[in-house]
Amino acid sequence: MYCQNCGEQIDDNAEICIHCGVRVKRDSYSQKDQNILAIIGFILSFFISIAGLICSIIAYRNREEYRHNYKNFAIAGIAISSIVLAFIVIEIILSVVFMIGILPPIINSGI
Ligand SMILES: [Zn+2]
Repeated sequence: MYCQNCGEQIDDNAEICIHCGVRVKRDSYSQKDQNILAIIGFILSFFISIAGLICSIIAYRNREEYRHNYKNFAIAGIAISSIVLAFIVIEIILSVVFMIGILPPIINSGI
C-alpha cells in the first residue's frame, strides 16, 4: 500500500511509514480487497457503455485502495466500453449521413 502522508510505497502490514515516520492510518481505506466497482464497470461496459466507462474509470482511479486487485477488470471495462461507444458514435454519424442523404427528396416532395 501507499503512505497517506508522503505517498511512498510501504509494506501492507507496516505500522509506521519507513520513509517519513508517520503512523500509518488503519482505516477502511486500506482494508478494501474487492474492487466491486471494477466488476460492475466491466459488466456494464457490454450493456450500458457510458455507465460502464464511468464505473471502470472510477475503479481504475481507486486501484491503489484495493492494492491493484481487479485492476485488469477496470482496464478491460474501459477498453470494452470505449470500443462499444466508438461503434455507437460511428453508427450515429452514419445515421446522420444517411438522414441527410434521404432528407432532400422528402423536402422536395412537399411533406
Ligand atoms: Zn510516509
